[in-house]
Amino acid sequence: MPDNTQHQLSHKLILRIVELSILTLLIDLTLRPLLVQLPIYFTWIGLLDLAIVTSLYIIVRFNIFPTLEIILSLLVAIIIITPSFALSGGVNSQVAYLLPLYPIMAALIGGYRESLIVTIILAIAIILATIFSQHITDLTGAMYSEQKSIDRGFWLTTSIIFSGVFGRFFLKRYTELTQQLKNENIQDPLTGLFNRRGLNLHFSKELDSADASSSSLSLILIDIDYFKKINDMYGHDIGDICLIEIASNLSQAIRKNDILARFGGEEFIIILPNTTKSEAASIAEKLRVLISKQKFSSLNLVLTITQGLTEYNKDNDNALKMIKRADKALYRGKDKGRNCVEQSE
Ligand code: GH3
Ligand code: MG
Ligand code: MG
Repeated sequence: MPDNTQHQLSHKLILRIVELSILTLLIDLTLRPLLVQLPIYFTWIGLLDLAIVTSLYIIVRFNIFPTLEIILSLLVAIIIITPSFALSGGVNSQVAYLLPLYPIMAALIGGYRESLIVTIILAIAIILATIFSQHITDLTGAMYSEQKSIDRGFWLTTSIIFSGVFGRFFLKRYTELTQQLKNENIQDPLTGLFNRRGLNLHFSKELDSADASSSSLSLILIDIDYFKKINDMYGHDIGDICLIEIASNLSQAIRKNDILARFGGEEFIIILPNTTKSEAASIAEKLRVLISKQKFSSLNLVLTITQGLTEYNKDNDNALKMIKRADKALYRGKDKGRNCVEQSE
């Protein structure tokens, strides 16, 4: 997933959470007075919270400080939670049960660092609230026994730390899964090589860097000769095994920076950065000999490849034009009798 998409996702997530906070505050401000008699300053604090969260909503919604979004969201979370937490009885507050959710939310929106900051701030807040529990009453003036406060403080701190650790594992798994998805998206399932999407992605990157560094770049298009016959005579499964083995032979023979992709059914493309046409021709010749000497599948089949190659022409050239030129050269090779290397004109 490109960074841009990741940023858009976390932006959306922050927006939803801020919207939810506004809704929670509105419900709290309208419903609570109907249930309990509260001092007027509670309403003022609620309205102040609402004003702060609404300002954040505007900041996030209109991308006013994109880099500060996460920090502002964390601050707002703390601003909302602190007065409610202190006013409603510290560790004995009903609000306290929401606190263990915060490290996970911070991990989801921000990352490891944000989750760690929130875990530490909340754990310290809970420990302090436990130490001073005998001085914190709730809005009705009720006090809780020291034993009960210590007990609640202990479990809250444990849950917050647990949630912080869980957030870390969650992120690790999430990163692994997105990486896996990314790979599957650009990988050919049969051979494990790049598919056409993977090729396009890397090809355009290589063209950009060839432009930037004024270096040469070549492309080889490879087509297996008479492959239809293999399928017709020995079955599709044997054909598949031959494709896998040819892919593996090619990928072992190329250099680390070369890009090998399955272009179509029994066609492959190799992008060779920093390589001139004549250098590419000797690489292609090496591959031709390698494949023709190998035996494929359990049936020890002999296969050959025909290759068409071309070099990037800095002026007015692109990926599609290069593939077309290589394809033309390849078909010339087929016409000449196959198992050979042809260069574009
Ligand atoms: P040529 O030398 O002219 O390239 O002959 P060819 O038989 O290789 O060419 P053609 O394009 O007519 O046939 C390609 C064959 O590749 C057709 C299809 O059965 C086979 N093929 C394409 N994809 C796969 C695949 O994923 N698995 C298998 N087993 N065969 C495939
Ligand atoms: Mg073909
Ligand atoms: Mg073929």
